[in-house]
Amino acid sequence: MNVGAAETRPLLPGATLGVVGGGQLGRMFVLAAKVMGYKVVVLDPDPASPAGELADIHLKADYRDAVALLRMGSLCDAVTTEFENVPAGSMDTLAKHCRVAPAASALAVAQDRLAEKTHARASGCETAPFANIESMADLDAAWTAIGAPALLKTRRLGYDGKGQARVDSRADLAAAFAGLGGVPCLLEGFLPLEREVSVVLARNARDEIAFFAVAENKHRNGILDISIVPARIPEPLAEKARDMAAHLAREMNYIGVMAVEFFVLKDGRVVFNEMAPRPHNSGHYTLDACATDQFQQQVRALCGLPLGDTRLLSPVVMVNLLGDVWQPQPSWEVLLDRPGVQLHLYGKAEARPGRKMGHYNCLAPTVDAALELAMETRASLGIGRA
Ligand code: AMP
Repeated sequence: MNVGAAETRPLLPGATLGVVGGGQLGRMFVLAAKVMGYKVVVLDPDPASPAGELADIHLKADYRDAVALLRMGSLCDAVTTEFENVPAGSMDTLAKHCRVAPAASALAVAQDRLAEKTHARASGCETAPFANIESMADLDAAWTAIGAPALLKTRRLGYDGKGQARVDSRADLAAAFAGLGGVPCLLEGFLPLEREVSVVLARNARDEIAFFAVAENKHRNGILDISIVPARIPEPLAEKARDMAAHLAREMNYIGVMAVEFFVLKDGRVVFNEMAPRPHNSGHYTLDACATDQFQQQVRALCGLPLGDTRLLSPVVMVNLLGDVWQPQPSWEVLLDRPGVQLHLYGKAEARPGRKMGHYNCLAPTVDAALELAMETRASLGIGRA
C-alpha cells in the first residue's frame, strides 16, 4: 500500500472522526478526540455502548450495515476502529469515502493467529514454534512438529485466554481440537515465561514512530490484571521489544496505534506473542502517567498530526476493575482518598464476571512504591491481592 498525499494531509480540529466499535477503548478515543476539538461518530449496534453515549452521533447499526457504513463514510473525514474483529469488508467500504486507519489489511492480519505469527516472523520477530491445524488430518504432523507441552489456540476470535487449551499428549490434542469445535487452530509450543510485556506504539503516515514505555503485564484467569510500568526488565530487552514492534509496524505499513505483546523467557529471549491493531488495555497507564496518552496518540496518528510526546512522567501501576467485584460496585471513597490514585470507569450499566468495568492508575516515585500503592488500594476496596 502506498501512503498517498491525501492521507498525509493533516486533519485539523473541527474535522469529524469515526470509530467502529463502542466499547471502553472507543469511549476513551471519543474523550480524547473531543478534548482535542474534533467531532466524533460511533458505529455500534448496542444502544447502551460506552462510546456511543459520549459521541456526537451514535449510529446504532450492525458493523456490516451498508446504509450505516455509507452514512458514517459521508459524515467522517477519517475512521478508525477499537476492536480487531471488525469485518474487513466494512473498513474497505468506509475507505471508499474517507481516510481509514489502520487499513483493512492490517486488521485481517491481527484477526488470524497464523497470519499474525507469519508476519511477525517475516519481520524478524522470534515466535513460539507453531503448527497450523485445519482438520483432524493435520493433528499428527502438528504433534510431531510441536510435541508436549503445548497450547492449542483457535486461529480466530480468541481473546482474554478464551479459545485455548493446554495439551500434554496426542490424546489431549484430539480432545482439545474437538472441544474447540474443530475450527482452524494453531498448536504452539508452551514456553517457559519469565514475564509478559507489551509495547504500545504509534506510527503515522510520515513513517514516524513513537513508543510508550514498555509495560509488564500480569494476568488472572487469562485476563489482564495489572500493568507495571516501566517493565522490570533490563533496558536491552526493552530495546529489543521496541525494535521488533517497530519492524512489524513498518512491514505492515501500519498507521495508527498498535500494541505488541511479548514473552520474556527465562533465558532472556524476547518472543512475539500477538498484536492488537488499536490502543490496548496495557496502555491505559498512559492516561495518567504520560505526556500524551494512547488515545490522544490514536487521534494524532489518524489525523496525520505530529505524534505526541510519549515521555513517562512517573512510575505507574494500572489495575483492572472487572465485573466480578461489583456486588454491588466497590465503595470508591477509599480509592478516591488516596494521593496518586486515579479512577477510570467505563459507564457500563451491567456488571458481569470478567467484564472490564474500569481501571485505576497508581502513581508513585518508584515502581515498587506504585505496586505497593496498587495492592494496598485493592485490599482497601476489599477485592483481594494479586
Ligand atoms: P494469548 O491469547 O495468546 O495472549 O494467550 C493468553 C496467555 O496464555 C498469555 O498471556 C500467556 O500467559 C499464556 N501463553 C500463551 N501462549 C503461550 C506459550 N506459547 N507459552 C506459554 N504461555 C503462553
